[in-house]
Amino acid sequence: MKILLATQKPFAAAAVAGIRQIVEEAGYELALLEKYAAQEDLVAAVADADALIVRSDKVTSEVIDAAVKLRIVVRAGAGFDNLDLDACTKHGVVAMNTPGQNSNAVAELAVAMMIFMARTQFTPATGSEIQGKTLGIQAFGNVGRLVGRKAAALGMKVKAIDPFLTAEQIEAGGAVSASSLEDLYSTSDYVSIHIPATPETVGSIGYNLISSMPKGATLINTARKEVIDEAGLEKALEERPDLKYVADVAPDNFVTLQEKFGLRVFATPKKMGAQTAEANVNAGLAAARQIVDFFKNGNTRFQLNLRKMQ
Ligand code: NAD
Repeated sequence: MKILLATQKPFAAAAVAGIRQIVEEAGYELALLEKYAAQEDLVAAVADADALIVRSDKVTSEVIDAAVKLRIVVRAGAGFDNLDLDACTKHGVVAMNTPGQNSNAVAELAVAMMIFMARTQFTPATGSEIQGKTLGIQAFGNVGRLVGRKAAALGMKVKAIDPFLTAEQIEAGGAVSASSLEDLYSTSDYVSIHIPATPETVGSIGYNLISSMPKGATLINTARKEVIDEAGLEKALEERPDLKYVADVAPDNFVTLQEKFGLRVFATPKKMGAQTAEANVNAGLAAARQIVDFFKNGNTRFQLNLRKMQ
């Protein structure tokens, strides 16, 4: 049984060693494809793989077509917009992510970004404190819940909304349940976005929501840049000189935003939310364990294309 670890941006050596140990202890073989130059390299390497582990690597229909033996692909991480789920389903390939493994890293970055913006990007200008302010969390999943707990510990009032959770579930997670997205945005000094990028969410946060935020508010996006309607963001920042935007990673119009709005906007040049040694190792090991558990016990707990295959 051959497990291919294909990472254009490789895991740390400790993570690779841990993955190898899990795979080899299960009696399987680990093949490595790191820092590959072109998508064709991945297409060629998957030809004899039974399982595939990737990070942000693009698992397109072309990759799946070429992977004739493939039974499972695991995205070591939370967001899975790099996997073509329809192609996986069509070929009977189980697709999984490793939810929760990098959540703390992302949540710490979201909190850091809030303070960074409250203190005017660590310049000597008079800033503000986050204690006593209201944080609205959009999507109360693994990252959202952790951001809520950390923010509450820093003295913030925490609200949240999630279309797949009841008000009781949100309250059990330590946040007040917002009645609507409009309610969340219009009553939160900070809104932290944690929705996945899906056809429903792409471009869904735009002018109306952003410009409804209270005076001096900051929008924090550690989800995906695609969920923002960038023209709407720019218009809202233009009309409201008190609003701020901070993101991991930079929107396409970031140079314009920076020229126009200076210290009111900040974005990481490369996605770095999950870039901690701990998250790196956690997600890689979880991916390897999930593959072994799938082959040995048929465990499909984190399957993403479950409904479509039934
Ligand atoms: P998660 O799956 O634990 O939580 C996602 C939440 O979004 C769930 O509670 C779900 O109910 C909700 N949701 C699903 N579809 C939705 C929709 N259409 N509208 C609104 N809410 C919806 O995921 P997570 O670990 O909390 O991560 C959230 C997102 O953060 C990921 O999808 C990914 O895009 C992003 N992320 C970024 C980094 C980074 O490096 N910056 C790292 C990890 C995750």
